[in-house]
Amino acid sequence: MSQHESERRRRPASGPKPKLALDTPVMYLKGVGPVRAEMLKRLGIETAGDLLRHIPHRYEDATTVTRIAHAEVGLDITVLGRVIAKGVLPTRKGLRVFQAVLQDASGMIEVAWPGQPFLDRTINKADWLLCTGPVRFFHGRRLQPREYINLGADEEGTNEGRVLAVYASTEGLSVRVLRALVQEYLDALLPLVFEPLSLAMLHEADVPALRDALRMVHRPTSVADALRGRARLVFEELLCVQLLHRRANQLARDARGGTAFVSRRDLTTKLRAALPFTLTGAQVRVIREIVADMGSPRRMHRLLQGDVGSGKTVVALFAALLAMENGAQVALMAPTELLAEQHLRTIGVMLAPLGIAPVLLTGRLGAKERRLALAQLASTEPSLVIGTLALVQEAVAFANLGLVIIDEQHRFGVEQRAALGAKGTAPDVLLMSATPIPRSLALTLYGDLDVSVLDERPPERQSITTVHRPGSARGKVMEFANTQLDEGRQVYVVYPLIETSEKIDLRAATAMFDELVAGPFASRRVALLHGRMPSEQRDEVMRGFRDGALEVLVATTVIEVGIDVANATVMIIEHPERFGLSQLHQLRGRVGRGAAQSYCILLGDVGADAAERLTMFTETEDGFEIARADLLLRGMGNLFGAKQHGLPEFRYADLLNDEALNERARQIADRVLAADPILIQHANVGLRELLSVGYARALELFRVG
Ligand code: ADP
Ligand code: MG
Repeated sequence: MSQHESERRRRPASGPKPKLALDTPVMYLKGVGPVRAEMLKRLGIETAGDLLRHIPHRYEDATTVTRIAHAEVGLDITVLGRVIAKGVLPTRKGLRVFQAVLQDASGMIEVAWPGQPFLDRTINKADWLLCTGPVRFFHGRRLQPREYINLGADEEGTNEGRVLAVYASTEGLSVRVLRALVQEYLDALLPLVFEPLSLAMLHEADVPALRDALRMVHRPTSVADALRGRARLVFEELLCVQLLHRRANQLARDARGGTAFVSRRDLTTKLRAALPFTLTGAQVRVIREIVADMGSPRRMHRLLQGDVGSGKTVVALFAALLAMENGAQVALMAPTELLAEQHLRTIGVMLAPLGIAPVLLTGRLGAKERRLALAQLASTEPSLVIGTLALVQEAVAFANLGLVIIDEQHRFGVEQRAALGAKGTAPDVLLMSATPIPRSLALTLYGDLDVSVLDERPPERQSITTVHRPGSARGKVMEFANTQLDEGRQVYVVYPLIETSEKIDLRAATAMFDELVAGPFASRRVALLHGRMPSEQRDEVMRGFRDGALEVLVATTVIEVGIDVANATVMIIEHPERFGLSQLHQLRGRVGRGAAQSYCILLGDVGADAAERLTMFTETEDGFEIARADLLLRGMGNLFGAKQHGLPEFRYADLLNDEALNERARQIADRVLAADPILIQHANVGLRELLSVGYARALELFRVG
């Protein structure tokens, strides 16, 4: 029996004491009564086991220490010093204050604990104290610790860097009380903890056993130690989530019997020969992933991520041709008519040498063209149809739809994407997205999709010169735009339009347009484009710009999506601070699409924070890096829309910072499931148990038989 256990037994009790177990209500722990139990409940701690799982969110140690000489009034710091004097002083209000003077190599500071005279008994002269708290002015500098640990008089202890664990606490329940409670019960609780992971897995994942990990997080000998303990808990959590997702994916795939396309090296080989460029390594790799997936008898459900300009279209085309050389029909859906037309044109050019003409189906078609298109789809001939949401209308029927490709997939709702898939009998599905995020994150985010990543740009892509200019430089910026226009180039000017202040923004955008037309662009052909315009009118303006009839396009963010005008070389963005970084990146992607040097100019005065963000943006063109920064700054919801992300709340993991662990968890989950899909092998029963306790979905996903 442990020391704590025997102490617990000795205390006077009313009624029989339950034996300590992980599910013992905290109420029955020494020092916790109904009031504290209520406070603990607010932190999600109801049982002794919950207490064990309430891990510190921060640590202080000698490495985070400020030299005492630098402890300035107003700072909140941690210092490490030796007690050279101490005593209890009464104040005028009758409060008794314990005071100590701490000294380190740089100087001395007074430390005071009002209302805690009893500390005089536990803190001795020559003890080393690690104290954290604000420095106030009180007859000089005075540190008022929120927390402290007494490292004792032994100088050795300080070098080892003993660590102060800081727990999330709640009103009325101090960190100190919480820490004391954990420390009191830690030794008794740890032996009760069950290890869900096999030794082999612990080894493979390179994480400590659960008991060790819990001891490390609650009673670390160094911050590194604590972080290693935390990594174990994070890994376990991510492993669970990955197992659930990957298993759901497996089941979904098994349920979706699909077509096993056979690579005939016919159309695809011809395309490769006809392309005016060589594929990038990433394109080759991703095409191989897609071909393998389409070749399997299960249905493909794959997300293709690639930065703006990474060449997703040609990858999609290889998939399309593979389906077509198997006699199937392919539908490519784009979010706007303009994009559909653009795809029709560029794809038409690429496929011309193969003697294939894609068909267009949008709401804008005349009755006759529409009839022809529908007839083509109703015939069993292999064909490629490119269109908008018009593709999912009732009247559209495919004879033999084998592959569905959805461009800019985030612009469609889940039902819209499903509706197109429902036009065939289990066609393969390829979704494309230009907001690249780390692969393991995407897998967590998009649950049951497989993910392919284009992480390389075509080599001849020019880099875009990006700068941030203050409002005072407006004249110069417009002058520069005019020199580009003189060279026959085209210019975008973008103005933010936020839904919540749409009316005001639209007025401002219109006013700016009037100013530009009256001023710097008086001699130019300029048009205004905004989301409130009827879509036909909008497309007409865009076509005018595309065909060169318009030189300057003043737009709200409606141009953000996929538009490709190679002759446009200048992108001026007003109020850049009002855009997210990924949005700015999408906008910037509208220039630099031809051979000429292009420019992205962020224009306007912004605050210091925004300036820093924008500077980061001007310094990189890596969409992954930008999406990552955006995620860190604004969170998932903002990047993907609240609807899209549906992320589970994590207890320990922070998806962005724990990316490496997440990737490790994903690989291990894949390997485990490949060998043991319902987790019944001996090594995996612990995992099975862990999942069934923690996740309601697990019961259904890992059902035996
Ligand atoms: P996105 O991924 O943004 O949809 P696109 O598919 O529109 O990118 O490709 C952008 C441009 O790059 C197109 O003009 C395309 O023809 C060209 N491109 C694609 N792949 C390559 C390559 N391997 N080498 C050179 N240019 C390429
Ligand atoms: Mg594209």
